[in-house]
Amino acid sequence: MSEDVFDKIAIIGIGLLGSSIAHAANAYGGAAKVALWDASDDVRHRAARVVHGAVCDTADAAIADADCVILCTPVGALGEVTAAIGQNLKPGAILTDVGSVKAKAASDMAAHCPDQVHLIPGHPIAGTEKSGPEAGFASLFQDAWHILTPLPDQDAAYGEAVERLTLFWKGLGARVETMDAARHDRVLAITSHLPHLIAYNIVATAYDMESVEQGEVVKYSAGGFRDFTRIAASDPTMWRDVFLTNKDAVLETLGRFSEDLAALQRAIRWGDGEMLMREFTRARGIREAIIDAGLDTAEADFGRRQLDPNSEN
Ligand code: NAP
Repeated sequence: MSEDVFDKIAIIGIGLLGSSIAHAANAYGGAAKVALWDASDDVRHRAARVVHGAVCDTADAAIADADCVILCTPVGALGEVTAAIGQNLKPGAILTDVGSVKAKAASDMAAHCPDQVHLIPGHPIAGTEKSGPEAGFASLFQDAWHILTPLPDQDAAYGEAVERLTLFWKGLGARVETMDAARHDRVLAITSHLPHLIAYNIVATAYDMESVEQGEVVKYSAGGFRDFTRIAASDPTMWRDVFLTNKDAVLETLGRFSEDLAALQRAIRWGDGEMLMREFTRARGIREAIIDAGLDTAEADFGRRQLDPNSEN
């Protein structure tokens, strides 16, 4: 367990991310005290049963004296949450978030963040398709990237705050990188946001075909489709906010994707097997690079092991 970086952290929004940070701080250290708050009465009650830390009745009680406040709500709520708590943040405290989009998150929070508070937006590249306080687990951030997008042109005290926050996330097991917010949003548009859009779209198309094919889309669903349904089971509010707040980068990436898809469509129509082989072989190389980087395993048939009666899991 690492030495505590902060005396007290406050987590606002107790879903998958918020509860995982609380579990991780309990398991690996980083904060002597953890206080949490969520806008939903139901979530607070459920969280009190499963999450490590003090679940508070009000946001102000949670943030009182906190050295670091981590906003774990959907991106669309970050501005209103900062407006509600901003004036009561401790001078010198760090305000950060885990939102999947960074430029809009930063401007929404900055609009309500007092000058004496260090605003350091962040995004852990770690998650699952599950949501809610029961979904969290301590090891979520182990070996995952955590991208911080510090504001430009800040003073030395701000630099020290970035170092402390970096130390905190490293303590939870993350590999920390700093990046410009606009670059983050362009990179994540292709590596995360577009894949989710495609998954939602494939599942929607299959759902529409379901009535035509009388249950066969579900009954004979192959591995590829099942993997898309896992991604498409992600929280609708979170993903609505991601697409509304990273609109330009997603639309730009979607344009490129549509052109490439049209090229594949053309190759199939004209029987251009050479082109299909070239593209599929290139894609396989990227998969191998991801496995070599330790970001996934080479295990086949993801998700099906639990269905094997001979499996111990
Ligand atoms: P989640 O499980 O749905 O949790 C979000 C929680 O925030 C919910 O309990 C929600 O309550 C609460 N909330 C909503 N508005 C609020 C407000 N104004 N004040 C206080 N609490 C509020 O979502 P999550 O997966 O943890 O995602 C949280 C953030 O992490 C998002 O910004 C997302 O972009 C980012 N993120 C997610 C992943 C992932 O894989 N899921 C990965 C990296 C980053 P209600 O349910 O009652 O609305």
